[in-house]
Amino acid sequence: AEPKQQTSQDTGVLDYVNAIVAVASCKGGVGKSTTAVNLAFALSQLGARVGIMDADIYGPSLPTLVEPDERAVQFADGRIQPLTCNGVKLMSFGYVNPESAIMRGPMIANVLNQLLTTTQWGALDYLIIDMPPGTGDIQLTLSQIVNMTAALIVTTPQKLSFVDVVKGIDMFDKVGVPSVGVVENMAYFVAPDTQKEHYVFGKGHKQRLVEQYGLVNAFSMPIDAELSERSDNGVPYVLAHPSSLIAEEYKNMASSV
Ligand code: ADP
Repeated sequence: AEPKQQTSQDTGVLDYVNAIVAVASCKGGVGKSTTAVNLAFALSQLGARVGIMDADIYGPSLPTLVEPDERAVQFADGRIQPLTCNGVKLMSFGYVNPESAIMRGPMIANVLNQLLTTTQWGALDYLIIDMPPGTGDIQLTLSQIVNMTAALIVTTPQKLSFVDVVKGIDMFDKVGVPSVGVVENMAYFVAPDTQKEHYVFGKGHKQRLVEQYGLVNAFSMPIDAELSERSDNGVPYVLAHPSSLIAEEYKNMASSV
């Protein structure tokens, strides 16, 4: 018989995590981290126990996006206590090693695996993994060491980015992780004076993905200055404006995972 493949689940810290959801994109800068963070806090607002794992070792963004309650991570018994914000557990390479990393692919996978499996996640309904951008080796390895429940793909409406989404869906397909939804981020802009929606990059991309890939859950998020501003200040948008339309859309997203 084939030897059982060692997975992170064997080490125990993920034993009490009910669902592991990857938030992925094929390109950087499309709003993947913004989406992951707001999705996580929306889930938490809906009553779930949530953790966020920032899996971007080269460019960790969680330390900027969310201001944690604690100043530094605590190590005990070979485990790391995650930081917290409003009850959401947080882990990022940026908390452990604030210097940015210069490493090769296989090393990155090791570091990630170690960080994931030494963090004392405790009982969680959802662990949201903010994946590194792209569909390369690191992403594949990560989806093999962790039993992911679902993937949410983030993109922007420009055509090139959509070609990449298909790549992302195919990659998750290969490792048996269902892509449960697509987020078309920065899809439109609401003029502050007229409240009219302007689809700066054109309309209809989302519909095409729904039709071609049978993705029933597709979400459009507007370009919103405050969404960006809030992130830069360490306060997730959905925490600052829990009853806004944008927060509602993140809650819809939360209900889909
Ligand atoms: P990624 O994780 O894909 O690299 P980020 O989430 O870091 O992308 O977002 C890239 C930049 O775009 C950040 O400055 C972020 O605040 C901004 N941003 C993301 N989504 C939106 C949005 N819907 N409206 C305005 N700015 C956004």
